Amino acid sequence: MEGDKHEIAIELFRDFHLDAEKLQLIVNQFMEEMKKGLDHEGATVAMIPSYVTGRPTGKEVGKYLALDLGGTNLRVIEFELLGNSEFKVQQEKYVVSDALKTGDMSELCDFIAECVGEFISKHSTDSEERRQLGFTFSFPVNQTAVDRGTLMHWTKGFSCANAVGQDVVVALQDAFHRKDIPVQVAALVNDTVGTLMANAYKNPKTSMGIILGTGTNAAYYEKYENITKWKHDELFEDMVINMEWGAFDFEHAVLPYTAYDNKLDRESINPHYQPFEKMISGMYLGEIVRNVIVSLIDRELLLSRTSSTVLNKQWTFDTAYVSAILDDTTDNLQKTGNLLEKILEVPIETSLSDRQCIQFICQLISRRAARLSACAIAAVLNSTNQIKNNPVVSIDGSVFEHLPHFEDQMREALADLFDDDVAKSVTFELARDGSGFGAAIIAMMAHKKQ
Ligand code: ADP
Ligand code: MG
Repeated sequence: MEGDKHEIAIELFRDFHLDAEKLQLIVNQFMEEMKKGLDHEGATVAMIPSYVTGRPTGKEVGKYLALDLGGTNLRVIEFELLGNSEFKVQQEKYVVSDALKTGDMSELCDFIAECVGEFISKHSTDSEERRQLGFTFSFPVNQTAVDRGTLMHWTKGFSCANAVGQDVVVALQDAFHRKDIPVQVAALVNDTVGTLMANAYKNPKTSMGIILGTGTNAAYYEKYENITKWKHDELFEDMVINMEWGAFDFEHAVLPYTAYDNKLDRESINPHYQPFEKMISGMYLGEIVRNVIVSLIDRELLLSRTSSTVLNKQWTFDTAYVSAILDDTTDNLQKTGNLLEKILEVPIETSLSDRQCIQFICQLISRRAARLSACAIAAVLNSTNQIKNNPVVSIDGSVFEHLPHFEDQMREALADLFDDDVAKSVTFELARDGSGFGAAIIAMMAHKKQ
């Protein structure tokens, strides 16, 4: 990079780099917040009991439906469990329009019920028997039974009216009744819990499930005696806890907020909420990169002061572009140049040093996300005494799957926090779209229990 680009690089490195000491502070704070969440309602990290206690054996058989809402698409899936840990799957995706995301809850539920009805008529092979459905609903829910839970607040661009404080299963079940579709919502499942259970079916050692996609969150098995807020009679050895970790650091106590993060937050539909999620998940990483680029243009330090209508607009820098730029190994960063000039419509020929600078920005922001993710994982594995016990962690999401070197960078952070042996001993298993399968498994377990 050229002269003033070198100065920028130093400045940006200072903004976005997290040293081992900082990582440790974050882990410590995270463990404190976990304890608070397990102790009382209303804590920042909600630590919601999922009512899921058992583990599947892999021998179960039967057909179960799963519904997945909260990612980019609505998905309806049917799993046929064949025993011996095997299954067949049929799936359809449906686009949830922005109007539905921000309209009334009953309209959203009607739409979902219609999609399920359509799926059943398309794929149905047997009787009109009422089907059991596991509903993956990836928003913070105050769960009150395996098939009951009220929405606490929306995240990830949803904001339907008449939903917060209401039972999500009742709302959806009502829609199935209205449309006369023979489906029983047997389980309400957070996608993290589903991701955990899906992998537990294949590998019983799995103790944690993580989403690193549009948003971020995690679930893990916690011992009965540590869930000090549990006031019901039901006893169990351990229960899956839906952490809602995206809310971590609501107090702004420890995360490394930059001006770019603050700008993103202010302009988001949920200012101040989900600060951890806003630093590590797919919905936001590209936007942080965009904020840095636009700011450097304004300071006359990048792209010869030339922006574009596309680049000036919020959310136009998809996190997939961050992956594409990081993957660009051409000599003169030709792919990065094309992306800037063709897709982001920057109306000049970008220089090599501009492209290098933008690649560097992408590196810093994705590496920060990986290191912050590792802090949260470390806090969970440490507080459950598993970190030295070859833990198996199930992960789903494009950020983990596609951002180049993300897993390596998580391990580097674990090595900074513990040592190389620990960093190597953690197994990350990609459970692509596993939450639906997990939800079907939980519906099956709940139905059998009845
Ligand atoms: P979801 O969370 O909706 O189930 P994903 O796990 O695919 O789905 O995550 C979607 C998020 O990941 C979006 O925010 C998108 O911008 C981002 N994304 C999509 N493709 C990539 C990619 N190749 N690299 C990094 N991020 C990506
Ligand atoms: Mg997903």
